[in-house]
Amino acid sequence: MTILAVAEHDGTQVRSGAYSALTVARDLAKNSGDNVELLVLGSGLDSVAADASRFAPVIVADHPLLANPTADRYARIIANVAKARDAVSIIANSTTFAKDILPRAAALLNAAMAGDVTGYSVGNGELLLRRPMYAGAAMAVVTLSGQPQVITVRASAFPSAGPLDQPGERTVWNVDASTLPNHSEYVGLESRPTLRPELTEARVVVSGGRPFRTSEEFENYVGRLADALNGAAGCTRALVDAGIAPNEWQVGQTGKVVAPQLYVALGISGAVQHLAGMKNSRVVVAVNSDPEAPMFSIATYGLVGDVRQIVPELIRELGK
Ligand SMILES: Cc1cc2nc3c(=O)[nH]c(=O)nc-3n(C[C@H](O)[C@H](O)[C@H](O)COP(=O)(O)OP(=O)(O)OC[C@H]3O[C@@H](n4cnc5c(N)ncnc54)[C@H](O)[C@@H]3O)c2cc1C
Repeated sequence: MTILAVAEHDGTQVRSGAYSALTVARDLAKNSGDNVELLVLGSGLDSVAADASRFAPVIVADHPLLANPTADRYARIIANVAKARDAVSIIANSTTFAKDILPRAAALLNAAMAGDVTGYSVGNGELLLRRPMYAGAAMAVVTLSGQPQVITVRASAFPSAGPLDQPGERTVWNVDASTLPNHSEYVGLESRPTLRPELTEARVVVSGGRPFRTSEEFENYVGRLADALNGAAGCTRALVDAGIAPNEWQVGQTGKVVAPQLYVALGISGAVQHLAGMKNSRVVVAVNSDPEAPMFSIATYGLVGDVRQIVPELIRELGK
């Protein structure tokens, strides 16, 4: 039987977070003796499939109708592959992509699902999955019954899998277009182009909060410091709600979960919903004019002062 790891990619290569899901798949397979296969979906996947095959045997679902990740189509393919492979588990990195698609695949398979898993153990032959709840205020331990089990894992909680000695086999999945749902159509993507690394994959994240009142100001302070550190720019929900930063930059309970080597919080109070998205960062630097700001309670280094004064000084020093 198979443990299926669904690999998200950028059109050229597999996203690094997928290799954490592969680590979990490999580890579970070690105990159960199952095969591990990576599933990639999309259109024009030659380079993605080549990249993925360095790490595991790959099932390639390549079709123009899969050019964009419309959840109903992707879920149908995942469910079909899982059935054909008699999959015991389907595992993916916990991202916006997986949150949209995996629950639908679980529903099609009538399968139990656990999202955002950060750890696991085996007790009495059962897989015990640990996952944060209530914005990380509590940890739940859950078991899933039935087969397959659908699991998304937080990439930051598991190391990346290494490549194989020999590339894995590539199997073409025959996509039958007539069976794909057509209830939703991809119309377009509105995204602010950025050359910065993806928020969830960056080693450094610089995030800004409410003191930044316009997009230009955000870019001038948060963006420039992120660039000086070769990092990604993130923000609090306050800035998304105010239309100053796009939704895809939001860190937190209802945004993205990050755990970079360095997280710089500029003018962020440290609301529990924000902390839920970044408190596992290795080093946290907080800059805030209020010495009582809760962000300081989890910061490794704290600077009390005005972001408009401190950030240019930091950029100047980094430039040296
Ligand atoms: C269901 C729900 C889900 C939510 N999900 C999220 C989420 O995913 N992510 C998220 O971020 N929030 C989320 N929130 C909102 C969250 O509760 C907070 O309101 C938000 O995080 C506050 O953002 P902030 O820190 O930018 O603003 P504030 O809380 O207003 O803090 C601004 C900080 O800036 C400091 N400051 C002001 N001026 C300066 C200056 N010149 N220099 C230095 N420091 C300065 C202040 O001292 C203050 O600490 C959610 C809320 C709810 C109810």
